[in-house]
Amino acid sequence: MRKRANKNVLPAPAAVTAAKQSISQPTSPRLRVGTGNDLHRLADGRRLILGGVKIPFDKGPVGHSDGDVLAHAICDALLGAAHLGDIGRHFPNTSPRWKDASSLLFLRHVRQLLDAAGYSIVNIDATVGLERPKLAPHIAPMEKKVAAALSLQPGQVSVKAKSGEGLDAVGRGEAIRADAMALVQFRSTPG
Ligand code: MG
Repeated sequence: MRKRANKNVLPAPAAVTAAKQSISQPTSPRLRVGTGNDLHRLADGRRLILGGVKIPFDKGPVGHSDGDVLAHAICDALLGAAHLGDIGRHFPNTSPRWKDASSLLFLRHVRQLLDAAGYSIVNIDATVGLERPKLAPHIAPMEKKVAAALSLQPGQVSVKAKSGEGLDAVGRGEAIRADAMALVQFRSTPG
């Protein structure tokens, strides 16, 4: 039987070339949007760090790095907007280099990747899902730290918080999650 080629799936090298071309085309849209999300299991005795801010609590996320779901979701949103892959590609959790690393380093590195590809960041909007503790007192410090790591003004980064209403893994207090969107703008001159 003759093999049918799936026209919708490009072989990997061609997909990479196509991605590079789409980024360098002057006719590409100058504004691009990206999304990201992250979910980590919570365990006793782990540090709870969100957007680089240490939050007092008796549980924290299990992860190879510091498990900062907010930073991770934002990294993925930015990388996605610029068609630069995902956080796992740039910061593999098999690498000892990123073991217990501060995720603010990831944000700084992602900013550099976007700069090199010719993108500036317009704004970021993110939501953290966590049953306890209440995050309201920590929102402004998180926005400030994330913005500083990305060399942005605090007003360019919005962080919101939601409980899980007692439902799903977040609601049962077993997990923490974050969702993020990013808008980036392609500059004519990468730098
Ligand atoms: Mg993560």
